[in-house]
Amino acid sequence: MVKICCIGAGYVGGPTMAVIALKCPSIEVAVVDISVSRIAAWNSDQLPIYEPGLDDVVKQCRGRNLFFSTDVEKHVCEADIVFVSVNTPTKTRGLGAGKAADLTYWESAARMIADVSKSDKIVVEKSTVPVKTAEAIEKILTHNGKGIKFQILSNPEFLAEGTAIEDLFKPDRVLIGGRETPEGQKAIQALKDVYAHWVPEDRILTTNLWSAELSKLAANAFLAQRISSVNAMSALCEATGANVKQVSFAVGTDSRIGPKFLNASVGFGGSCFQKDILNLVYICECNGLPEVAEYWKQVIKINDYQKGRFVNRVVASMFNTVANKKIAILGFAFKKDTGDTRETPAIDVMNKFDWDHPIHLQPMSPSTVKQVSVVWDAYAATKDAHGLCILTEWDEFRNLDYQKIFDNMQKPAFVFDGRNIVDVDKLREIGFIVYSIGKPLDP
Ligand code: NAD
Repeated sequence: MVKICCIGAGYVGGPTMAVIALKCPSIEVAVVDISVSRIAAWNSDQLPIYEPGLDDVVKQCRGRNLFFSTDVEKHVCEADIVFVSVNTPTKTRGLGAGKAADLTYWESAARMIADVSKSDKIVVEKSTVPVKTAEAIEKILTHNGKGIKFQILSNPEFLAEGTAIEDLFKPDRVLIGGRETPEGQKAIQALKDVYAHWVPEDRILTTNLWSAELSKLAANAFLAQRISSVNAMSALCEATGANVKQVSFAVGTDSRIGPKFLNASVGFGGSCFQKDILNLVYICECNGLPEVAEYWKQVIKINDYQKGRFVNRVVASMFNTVANKKIAILGFAFKKDTGDTRETPAIDVMNKFDWDHPIHLQPMSPSTVKQVSVVWDAYAATKDAHGLCILTEWDEFRNLDYQKIFDNMQKPAFVFDGRNIVDVDKLREIGFIVYSIGKPLDP
């Protein structure tokens, strides 16, 4: 029986390994982590992450061929294939601080693999890492002094939070990069054999190591760039009377462009886009390409601008001050269908307000922002509020009883839709003053 071990039981490691275990009953999969509480949660009925369909997958194979454990060394030692899916945040100190990826967790995982291994292994980069990371990892692994051979593969993960299980069941593509040596090609084939249990052959792409590593950064940069492009257009729409929904639709029907990822919003968030673009910027700078670095920096600049523009619009609309006013925030996660609040725009928006009165948040998670109280119901959050900001596109916010909300709010009652999900005309009929990103302002 092939044994797989995944180091890192997070948003990527947990769901990807659960799906591998489900689709490959003949493979034993162990997901290991240094976080005792995270592993305890994976072994309980309350999984550590919320992802539609995940509970079901885990229930079907946990204890059968899927195991969650803190015994990292034992499972690494026993595995034929070791995935490394640890976090790779932006460095906060030292060389490259604020841009470069912090590979501390990766390096300690690689050193531990070298230390505990007693047999040859394939080591798979599942985390998003800078291009050429495999070279550094190879150095650590090959100098193990025991004659053990390691093959490094890059197999970046393209799942999106909120649709992770769907994405893993039917990936657009699985990308595997490896060395162009016979050993490298053999390792690629071994990983292909795993995915071939459910992914059609033409969707499994193989490249050299550096192309695979760079493709992940490139994909995230392109996706974020589309969001910043449409957000930049939204500002121009507001200035000219155009409607960004109509513009996006018109632009997206061009088959060369396509309709996805063209929704104007308060800005992108989450733990990946900004960090991966900063990483790309740093790599460009290190490779003597400042103009290319500058190009990608603009994607983040527009994203920050969009969040600031939203807050300015809220404050300006409410007679230039939010002092002594109550503002209800609907949504705290960085997107719908996830409980992940890492780098959510909601936090940036709240921090940009000059608060001097409580704000109510709904739903998902408590916050560290001062003068914030959390409630779990949109009607309670909006009671006596002067304004209401929609910051996550949860479906339930589309279908609230806005008449009831209006009746319970202070007047004039403002709605600021940072996700373009409300029916603006209907809300204006009720009596709200409505701002929806990129749409014509109140007459
Ligand atoms: P995460 O923070 O949710 O999980 C990482 C886990 O690794 C943590 O539980 C941590 O305790 C564990 N860990 C760190 N060092 C360890 C060690 N030495 N031994 C054992 N466990 C260790 O992160 P994530 O969101 O799953 O992301 C992981 C990687 O995947 C990142 O590089 C990220 O950029 C990339 N990625 C994330 C997404 C996403 O949507 N979250 C999508 C694609 C790729």
